[in-house]
Amino acid sequence: MVPLPARRALLAAALGPAGRRRVPRHRAPAAAAAAARHSSGAGGEAEEPGGATAVLRHLLLKLRATGPVTVAEYMREALTNPGQGYYTRRGGIGESGDFVTSPEISQVFGELIGIWYISEWIATGKPEAFQLVELGPGRGTLIDDILRVFNQLASLLSKCDISIHLVEVSPKLSEIQALMLTGGKVQSNPKDQSAYMKGVSKTGIPIFWYRDIQDVPPGYSFYLAHEFFDALPIHKFQRTEKGWREVLVDIDPEVPDQLRFVLSPSSTPATENFIQPEEMRDHVEVCPEAGVIIQRLAGRIEKDGGAALVADYGHDGTKTDTFRGFRNHKLHDVLRAPGTADLTADVDFSYLRKMTQGRTATLGPIKQREFLKNMGIDLRLQVLLQNSCDGATHEQLLHSYDMLMNPKKMGDCFNFFALLPHHRLVHPDKKHKPESKSPLPPVAGFGELLLK
Ligand code: SAH
Repeated sequence: MVPLPARRALLAAALGPAGRRRVPRHRAPAAAAAAARHSSGAGGEAEEPGGATAVLRHLLLKLRATGPVTVAEYMREALTNPGQGYYTRRGGIGESGDFVTSPEISQVFGELIGIWYISEWIATGKPEAFQLVELGPGRGTLIDDILRVFNQLASLLSKCDISIHLVEVSPKLSEIQALMLTGGKVQSNPKDQSAYMKGVSKTGIPIFWYRDIQDVPPGYSFYLAHEFFDALPIHKFQRTEKGWREVLVDIDPEVPDQLRFVLSPSSTPATENFIQPEEMRDHVEVCPEAGVIIQRLAGRIEKDGGAALVADYGHDGTKTDTFRGFRNHKLHDVLRAPGTADLTADVDFSYLRKMTQGRTATLGPIKQREFLKNMGIDLRLQVLLQNSCDGATHEQLLHSYDMLMNPKKMGDCFNFFALLPHHRLVHPDKKHKPESKSPLPPVAGFGELLLK
C-alpha cells in the first residue's frame, strides 16, 4: 500500500478535481435510509387480496404435505425461489427507484471502495493480474463506479490484467447489470467458461456472471460483498425452559392461508450444531450459508492472495431478533405476501470472523462513517463542492454525504469488515528477525487518514 501522503495523491489522481459527477438517482426518507434496502411496490409478483402470492401458494402446499419449515427455508423460498422469489422476479432495485443502498445514493461511495482495492494492490507489490469478484451486485452501480476509478487510473493499471466476476442468482438483476456495465452486449452460456454470461465493460474489461462463488476461477482476487450477506437465509433459535428450540414457519390454524411462527417441539439438528454452550442470549440468529461463503473466501485468499471487503448492517454477536421485511420504504410483516418484500437480517460479524477458521486475518467491523472518513470522503466532498456552481448540486452533495455519514442514517448501522492474508498484517519472518523489515503499510480505511 502507499504511504499516507501518497494515498492522498492516489485519491486526487483517481477522482480528479471534479470527477464526472452523477446526480444521485434516488432520494429516500431518513428512516428508510437507516434500514438501507427497500423494495418498491411496483412491478414483479402481484399480491392478491388477503396477501396470497405464488410463493405463498407454493409454501402452503409444502407445509400441508410435510409440516413446518425452518426460517432459513422460508427465507430462501421468498427471496430466491427460481420462479417467483423476490430477487428472481423483481430485482427490487428497479427503475421505479425507491430502493436505497449506499452506492445508489452517491458515486463517491464506489469511488472510495475502488481506491481501497487499488491501495491493496499496490501494498501487495502490484501483481500482474487481479480478479474483482462482487457477490450480489444489485443494479451494478457499485462496480460501475469502481470501474470508472480504474479507468481514471489507467496509466497506473496499464500493465495489470483485470477481470470482473459477478456472482448473481437473479436473472432479472443480471440483465440490469449487463445493461449498466456493457450496454447489454453479452453472450449467454459461453461454451469455454463456467460463467452463465459474459461481456466486456464500456472501458474494455471482461465481465463474467456466475450463480455460485465456487464457479469463479481461482487466482489473486479482490472480493466485494455490499449488502449481500444480510440477504442470505438465517436460522432462528429461542431459549426455552426445556432448552434451545428452533423457530419454524407453519400455517396459522386460526386464519386461512396465513403463516405463523412456531417452536420446534424438540431440538433440531440446527440447534445442536449452531448454538454454543456458552451462549448468553435468549434468541439467536445464525446464517450458515454466510459461514460457508466466508470459509470459501478465506480459503481462496489464503491460497491465491487478495482481500475481501464486506459492508453490511450488523453486530458482533450481540443482537437477538433482527429478522425484518421491507416494502415501499416501510417495515413489512415478514410472513405476509412472501416474494413481494425484501427480507433481511443483521450480519453477525463475530460468526463471519469465526468461520474464517484462522485462514486469513480480519479487520473490523468498523462503522461506515469511520471507514469513509479514513478513506478521505471529506476531501472528496470539498473538491466536489468547490467545483459545482449550482445550488441544487450543492444541496444534493450535502444531502448524500449526510445519508452515508450521519450516525442516525447509514453512518453507524453499516459496518466494514475485511479479510486479508496474514502476511499482509504481520511479516512472515517477524518472529525470527523482528528488526529486519520496514513496517508493513497500513490497510486503508481501517486506520485514521493522516494528511501531511
Ligand atoms: N450490492 C447491491 C445489491 C444488494 S441486494 C447494492 O448494495 O446495491 C442483494 C443482492 O444479492 C442482489 O443482487 C441479489 O439478487 C443478490 N443475491 C441474493 N441472494 C443471493 C445468492 N444466494 N447468491 C447470489 N446472489 C444473491
